[in-house]
Amino acid sequence: MPTDEELAAAIDAVRAAGDLCARAQGRLVEGHTLTKGDDSPVTVADYASQAVVCATLQDALGEVAMIGEEDTDDLRLDAQSTLLAGVTELVAGQRTDDPSSGHVLDWISIGSSGGGRSRYWTLDPIDGTKGFLRGDQYAVALGLIEDGVVTLGVLGCPNLPNPDGSVGALFAAVDGQCRAYYGGAGGDAVAVHVDAPATLADARFCESVESGHSDQGQSARIAELLGITTEPYRIDSQCKYAAVARGDASIYLRLPTRADYREKIWDHAAGKFVVEQAGGRVTDVTGAPLDFGRGARLENNRGVIATDGHVHDDVVAAVMRVLG
Ligand code: AMP
Ligand code: MG
Repeated sequence: MPTDEELAAAIDAVRAAGDLCARAQGRLVEGHTLTKGDDSPVTVADYASQAVVCATLQDALGEVAMIGEEDTDDLRLDAQSTLLAGVTELVAGQRTDDPSSGHVLDWISIGSSGGGRSRYWTLDPIDGTKGFLRGDQYAVALGLIEDGVVTLGVLGCPNLPNPDGSVGALFAAVDGQCRAYYGGAGGDAVAVHVDAPATLADARFCESVESGHSDQGQSARIAELLGITTEPYRIDSQCKYAAVARGDASIYLRLPTRADYREKIWDHAAGKFVVEQAGGRVTDVTGAPLDFGRGARLENNRGVIATDGHVHDDVVAAVMRVLG
């Protein structure tokens, strides 16, 4: 079980990283973005966000183990250049201890310390980097995994429009509860619950903006089978889980586009737990539980289905019909 100190540190860490990302979005200059080996983009803000989350957790909790999305390989190769300088400047803007580039590299390296452990954090410092670069939605996603099971999830969504008109939400899920903080630090927490549509045909489903991350043709066929006529809610990152958790949508479909792709734990741990603690259900496309006990990837699962719970079995059945 996570301690109160761990929950408080996780909220502080995600809030600090979200503030950093909000300052950086739309202000990146040439040399501040690069393409990784897997063809996905990474920016100075991704690295800086990971540094700030790790530093904040370490300040509060001492040594922590983590499987984070980013590592320091490209930054060390590039030690003299704009990339590491840009990362260090962003981190320094969020901290009071005027860190050196060496400190920043050490913090980011904490994200490579969780392999082979039974209890570790997992972090996506900017989930939905493509959305971040487009000026759209993204998330800072931090989960805690204990013996292969997610036990804490904090999801920062700095750009998310809220029902009360504010922008920016932070979701914190632990021990049977999911709470949201709207509009930045200092606000009161509100309890978050899934919302069930009157009939399945009234359900709204969300999916990736990026067609390479989820098969949108198949999701359209599944919606048709279920009698859903509302247009899909396309939104980047684990904001999709947030949308299901608070009833903006009742279904999140993530349908494999490639037979060999395995989902990464940091793309799902926090969001899945947020939905479950808000009363929803999360499985893979076959209806099997997500298995977080296999290292950095969900080796035993294909795709993801998250719902308000009530419609879950019907959605899994429709997905299996369309996927064959
Ligand atoms: P989203 O914002 O929901 O489209 O998801 C963003 C995440 O998709 C990134 O963090 C990547 O790790 C992940 N991703 C990259 N390629 C794929 C793929 N082929 N299938 C599913 N997810 C992917
Ligand atoms: Mg990601």
